Amino acid sequence: MHCTNCSETISEQAEICPKCGVRTFKVKKYCHGCGKSVNENQEICVACGISLNGTNVEREPWLMAVLSFLILGLGQIIMGQTAKGLTILAVGFFIGFITVGISSFIIVPISVIDAYLIAKKKKDGKVVGEWEFF
Ligand SMILES: [Zn+2]
Ligand SMILES: [Zn+2]
Repeated sequence: MHCTNCSETISEQAEICPKCGVRTFKVKKYCHGCGKSVNENQEICVACGISLNGTNVEREPWLMAVLSFLILGLGQIIMGQTAKGLTILAVGFFIGFITVGISSFIIVPISVIDAYLIAKKKKDGKVVGEWEFF
């Protein structure tokens, strides 16, 4: 992530920036997701869409897995993989319709595992492509 005070790249776990000594999320000068400069009144970063309040819900692997279990592809959509999430949803419905729902036993776990692993990658600070799986 980026320091919200000086935009320096710092560890995801860092509570205090080693460069400027300011507690992360205490000030809101830069986006912690992409490092672009933001306004104090902004709720989300307009450059990358991340919430600027320090709540990384879209990076919580278990939450994303549960969401993808409830609605196929939902976790992926929330994480910004919109086209991929919608494709999983559409394909899941289509194949599910043909196989009278039997395919759900395969597609749902795949979607859940994928959402979990993608969220984990994001949490580790890795860049994830829109169509990247697992
Ligand atoms: Zn800093
Ligand atoms: Zn950003």
